[in-house]
Amino acid sequence: MGELDGSVSLVTGATRGIGRAIAVWLRREGATVVGLGREEGRGLALERELPGFRFLRADVAEGAQVEDAVRHVLEWFGRIDHLVCNAGIAIDRLLLRMSAEEWRDVLDVNLSGTFYCIRAVLRPMLRQRGGAIVAMSSLVGQTGNVGQANYAASKAGIVALCQTVAKEVGGRGIRVNAVAPGFIDTEMTAGLPDEVRAAYLARVPLGRAGTAEEVAEVVGFLLSQRASYITGQVVEVNGGIHP
Ligand code: NAD
Repeated sequence: MGELDGSVSLVTGATRGIGRAIAVWLRREGATVVGLGREEGRGLALERELPGFRFLRADVAEGAQVEDAVRHVLEWFGRIDHLVCNAGIAIDRLLLRMSAEEWRDVLDVNLSGTFYCIRAVLRPMLRQRGGAIVAMSSLVGQTGNVGQANYAASKAGIVALCQTVAKEVGGRGIRVNAVAPGFIDTEMTAGLPDEVRAAYLARVPLGRAGTAEEVAEVVGFLLSQRASYITGQVVEVNGGIHP
């Protein structure tokens, strides 16, 4: 018996990295998991690997695609108990050289994508009189970071979005929290130069990068009933850094 038996979870960007670890965690606890993302090949491979996981192709930056995906989940399973807004991209460039397109693309996926997903699941959650939402912010959204104005702004925006929705729907039994990871070993960070990685890790009290599984553990807790009195918070998973 898992603690999430009978529940339905929607996870964006579930095909790799942190999103995949969250999908695996939720399945282990008994939830039916729908992964929403752009990488069809990996999504279908994960369906074969992880029974009880379903993949739906959708770009979170496109509101209509998100609405369609949520309609599908409701047709299949009749409810949505958990939403994890994990899909995210980074296009790093010093502000002076950043194009409007690079600014927009990151805001569209990270911040507008989170908005579209939260808006789409709120109605079913209101009908069910309950639900839990976690969105992926970042340490960078709390501190800023050279070359990441677009990414940092999107991740700070996610915190304000979650705090606002938490206030709007708290009285209806829906909880909304943000998780702010620090440096986590995934494909997103794999391409960073060694010296950037070393300089960053030198600031981490635990002295190492985090794993996707360590973030998934916190996301899973926030979605579970064990976190029933936690909403509107930012939970840091960063190895001990104080932003
Ligand atoms: P990743 O690049 O390995 O995975 C991102 C996932 O999002 C992929 O599955 C990708 O296909 C999906 N995605 C991207 N754009 C999408 C779109 N438009 N529509 C649907 N899906 C889309 O990244 P990760 O390291 O696993 O990061 C996951 C989340 O955690 C991101 O929001 C990221 O910003 C955040 N985060 C990561 C770190 C880190 O150090 N890795 C730190 C802080 C925050």
